[in-house]
Amino acid sequence: MIPVVALVGRPNVGKSTLFNRLTRTRDALVADFPGLTRDRKYGKAELEEHEFIVIDTGGIDGTEEGVETKMAEQSLMAIEEADVVLFLVDGRAGLTSSDEAIAKHLRSREKPTFLVVNKIDGVDGDSACAEFWKLGMNGMYQIAAAQNRGVTALMERALAPFADSLNATEDEDSDEVFIEDLTSVEDIEKANLSEADAEAAYKRLQEQPIKMAIIGRPNVGKSTLTNRILGEERVVVYDMPGTTRDSIYIPMEREGQEYVLIDTAGIRRRKNMNQAVEKFSVIQTLKAVEDANVVLLVIDARENISDQDLSLLGFALNAGRSLVIAVNKWDGLDNEVKERVKSELDRRLGFVDFARIHFISALHGTGVGHLYESVQEAYQSATKRISTSLLTRIMQMAQDDHQPPMIRGRRVKLKYAHAGGYNPPIIVIHGNQVNELPGSYKRYLMNYYRKSLEMMGTPIRIQFQSSE
Ligand code: GDP
Ligand code: GDP
Repeated sequence: MIPVVALVGRPNVGKSTLFNRLTRTRDALVADFPGLTRDRKYGKAELEEHEFIVIDTGGIDGTEEGVETKMAEQSLMAIEEADVVLFLVDGRAGLTSSDEAIAKHLRSREKPTFLVVNKIDGVDGDSACAEFWKLGMNGMYQIAAAQNRGVTALMERALAPFADSLNATEDEDSDEVFIEDLTSVEDIEKANLSEADAEAAYKRLQEQPIKMAIIGRPNVGKSTLTNRILGEERVVVYDMPGTTRDSIYIPMEREGQEYVLIDTAGIRRRKNMNQAVEKFSVIQTLKAVEDANVVLLVIDARENISDQDLSLLGFALNAGRSLVIAVNKWDGLDNEVKERVKSELDRRLGFVDFARIHFISALHGTGVGHLYESVQEAYQSATKRISTSLLTRIMQMAQDDHQPPMIRGRRVKLKYAHAGGYNPPIIVIHGNQVNELPGSYKRYLMNYYRKSLEMMGTPIRIQFQSSE
């Protein structure tokens, strides 16, 4: 599971600076959830070998009346859900009563917490740190987020417990590989198997349960849908309670296909969690997306498509997940409204034309059964093996039908293509000047592949490699 790191501290200590530093990586995706979460920010970050989710919890001013309530409102949930807390203080401004109030709160949680003294550029780090020992945290780390000093070392330490389990599996790989142990496309690709073994491993994978995450903003009908799915008599439900801060994983079976439903809504909502804080958790959603094979995004037909819907969609796309969209509450709408909703979907979700859209009523069950077909289709598409010869042949056909443009007086020529990964499928195209192909031609190739390979439900990524 991808670790979650929360940045906590009073305003102005440099949380956003560190946040930006950490998320300024190739794969970073930052989503703001205004209103819903105040000024909290979420991002996926990559540092060296580590992938993690980082949350900027927003400023907490401990000097205000009742730091507890302030923290409860804004950051308690983030802290609860984080695996690691980075508690930032300002090495130039020195210790303040806000810092002490926050420290007191953090000491009462049992969370791995790192005290981070920021802005140590141009000051003597050790003397700047001296007074912070009073906070009674175990050890501290000196950084200058703005200069990127000490950041990598800090994160190495903070993420070390999670890297260990990662390295352990890699060590196993280098010994002997058992096909039964390869539970993801990434594992199979990393294992360097013979063609026949890889084939067998992929076949096994296709027979694995499909991990399906039901996500969506609050009140769109996720719980209703989950209950509907689980309530169907053909579904076999096993009880498998989750922990308080994770989604619930529910193994189930339908028409011979096994699934694991990742329930972010909490059909059995946890009693011990403070409901007033927030019943919807972005972190939980992010984790579920990371862990799923297929994301089922639920949208409310009775509300306009919001930035939050688009942010959630962004999470799924960024993670390269297969996607099925369910437009819920389709019951009892008159035709005029239905037409309006459909045209809004076309306009705002046109860019995810690979995803099947279903119009359903979770409340009455209408259309729910058909979701499985699209989920299966999306999963098969994302994990289908495609040979080099087929990919090259399709590339050739696309090129014959519609020549690439001339660039600097020379025609771009595509030479061959091969698979660069699965789930999502990556197609690597080699040729001359291919990096300079215009976006329109890249999209043309993408659509050509999608049609030829009949890939629905999964994003496809095309990479270009120039070979002169
Ligand atoms: P936040 O309110 O905790 O999110 O703090 P910001 O990231 O907005 O930073 C507050 C101020 O501190 C800004 O003016 C930053 O440029 C500055 N700052 C952040 N990190 C450093 C640092 O490492 N060194 C110095 N000198 N200034 C910094
Ligand atoms: P969640 O927050 O996404 O889990 O949403 P809930 O499942 O709790 O549903 C929010 C509200 O929408 C509840 O009042 C449901 O009864 C209602 N609702 C859910 N699905 C439907 C539907 O298909 N049609 C109608 N009319 N209402 C629905």
